[in-house]
Amino acid sequence: MNKGTLIILAGPSGSGKDTVMKELFKLLPDLKFSISSITRDMREGEVNGEKYNFITREEFESMIENKQLLEYNVYCGNYYGTPKAPVEKAIAEGKEILIEIDVNGAEEVRKNCTDYFSVFIMPPSFEVLRERLVGRGTDKMEVIEKRLEEAKAEMARANEFDYIVVNDDLMTAVQNFKTIIEAERCKSDRIL
Ligand code: 5GP
Repeated sequence: MNKGTLIILAGPSGSGKDTVMKELFKLLPDLKFSISSITRDMREGEVNGEKYNFITREEFESMIENKQLLEYNVYCGNYYGTPKAPVEKAIAEGKEILIEIDVNGAEEVRKNCTDYFSVFIMPPSFEVLRERLVGRGTDKMEVIEKRLEEAKAEMARANEFDYIVVNDDLMTAVQNFKTIIEAERCKSDRIL
């Protein structure tokens, strides 16, 4: 049996991470997904418990205090964190679990975990990113500006990741991500 592993996925808001992930899970249905706990307001169309558990700041701070998070970060004024238990369970069962987090969270995971590899989804350009964020119409202009600032800082740290997948053409990006996961499965230290 292959050993379990954590797949860290990061990339700026608007890089198309969610769409890439959705397609990837269709091709690799055994992959587990880590549901983050977050304190931002729910957007239209989001379902509690699907990608995120929407909780209060008090609930989040109690998770921090009780050491129930693998990592967490404050992003644009809200808490985002990865609950520890489901990740540990998946790895113990020899599964692959994907955590979609920001670059600071990724740095924290690298410090605390050994069984992982990391992938950064890169938009084709900063201009395309701006167009996507404005075009999706889910955030106010001032939030978009904040997200663009974060995006610039995140893109400057792409070299901290093991792999970079450029999301220019969606299905090429998905295929590249799948190939990375399949190659990682053949690594000797995942098998022996
Ligand atoms: P959004 O509000 O657009 O859903 O997410 C904002 C940012 O938070 C994204 O970069 C996303 O990857 C990141 N994020 C989502 N879940 C987590 C998490 O559990 N931990 C950390 N550190 N970042 C997260």
